[in-house]
Amino acid sequence: MANEMKGCKELISEVIEKDLCCLCGACAGSCPYLTSYKGRIVQMDNCTLSDGQCYQYCPRTPVDMDAASLHVFGVPYSEDEMGTFKDVFMARARDSVIKGKAQYGGTVTTLLSVAMEEGLIDSAILTRTADDKIPRPFVARNVSEVLQAAGSNYMACSVLEAYNRLPEDNSDKLAIVGVPCQVLAAVKMKMEPPRHRCSTDNIAFVIGLFCTWALSPPGFHDFLKTSLNLPSVIKFDIPPPPANRFDVYTPSGQVSLSLDQVREYIMPTCAYCLDMTAEFADVSVGSVEGVEGWNTLIVRTDEGARLVEKAKAKGVLEIDALPADKLAHLKEASLIKKKRALKKIINTTGDDKNLLYAGLSPSLSEKLLS
Ligand SMILES: Cc1cc2nc3c(=O)[nH]c(=O)nc-3n(C[C@H](O)[C@H](O)[C@H](O)COP(=O)(O)OP(=O)(O)OC[C@H]3O[C@@H](n4cnc5c(N)ncnc54)[C@H](O)[C@@H]3O)c2cc1C
Repeated sequence: MANEMKGCKELISEVIEKDLCCLCGACAGSCPYLTSYKGRIVQMDNCTLSDGQCYQYCPRTPVDMDAASLHVFGVPYSEDEMGTFKDVFMARARDSVIKGKAQYGGTVTTLLSVAMEEGLIDSAILTRTADDKIPRPFVARNVSEVLQAAGSNYMACSVLEAYNRLPEDNSDKLAIVGVPCQVLAAVKMKMEPPRHRCSTDNIAFVIGLFCTWALSPPGFHDFLKTSLNLPSVIKFDIPPPPANRFDVYTPSGQVSLSLDQVREYIMPTCAYCLDMTAEFADVSVGSVEGVEGWNTLIVRTDEGARLVEKAKAKGVLEIDALPADKLAHLKEASLIKKKRALKKIINTTGDDKNLLYAGLSPSLSEKLLS
């Protein structure tokens, strides 16, 4: 499905005004017109370009999944619930400082630190949560800055805007960490390299985070402000079902909010997302339901495998087998997300359906709808 001759105007009318924006940031920061402001993408002035890369890179505009998969893995899009992968493990950091600051096992922070120490990357495009608890894109240039970004903020963040703002002649080797929509946008950028921006050849690897949904920053932040002293919050967490809680860790103890209340702030666009495990990343990292302090680590590409090997060889990453029941559960959760999203896309009417067309093969669509 072609995206030819569509630009900012169509991005605004077809995606942003339809509440389909995921705030990945791929459209922002590279031209004078689009920028993120208070958790939204806003247009500063009218852009008259008829074919904008802003439209092309958006994870909610059509994508040929086979072409994306061929680009990353050299094979067509996998029908496996978790996408193409080489291996899947449980992993966690050995470093107690990383474990103390990280969301779960600190696998992401450890892999980034190893990549920096070994000279595989010079900087990493991450998400850092400031005292006001709003997540912001952040370029970490050393290991201590990588550590500053550890931990999850469940509000969406325009991570790729930080990439777009890098100088065109930037020669740093980069890592990008993002949720599945951000990873998909990064692949779309690699497939059709951006004009007048830092080369996508500089991206050494992409680390994907599992994601079921993200929260809308303006609404959720206002909601949190009413009940919490945000600067004192140490960490947010969503424990696995059946907990149905959103936990907030503060110096005076843990406060739990009902997940039903929190769900009201889920970005509407997440309902159309087919990807729970960031299928186009070099490695993907999530929790292991029911095993505290460990991550699930999916190794997808040769680059990802080499990075994990390096971390193992340095003795900084502990690796164990992922129990079969946890793998089965992960696949089930991933499949549920795909089925739900595809049904939602199918039930969408008119032009919006074409827009959200996910580029799945007829056999996979049929399998998901059965
Ligand atoms: C919105 C969201 C939803 C998630 N949903 C699930 C889920 O359903 N199931 C599951 O198993 N895991 C989910 N995760 C992933 C999980 O929270 C951890 O990020 C992951 O397990 C890695 O843990 P870690 O200890 O290795 O991370 P750490 O070493 O603590 O590193 C975390 C990294 O996450 C990045 N980050 C933080 N906030 C954001 C954000 N808003 N957007 C993009 N990047 C961010 C930071 O740059 C940091 O480098 C979600 C994460 C996010 C951000």
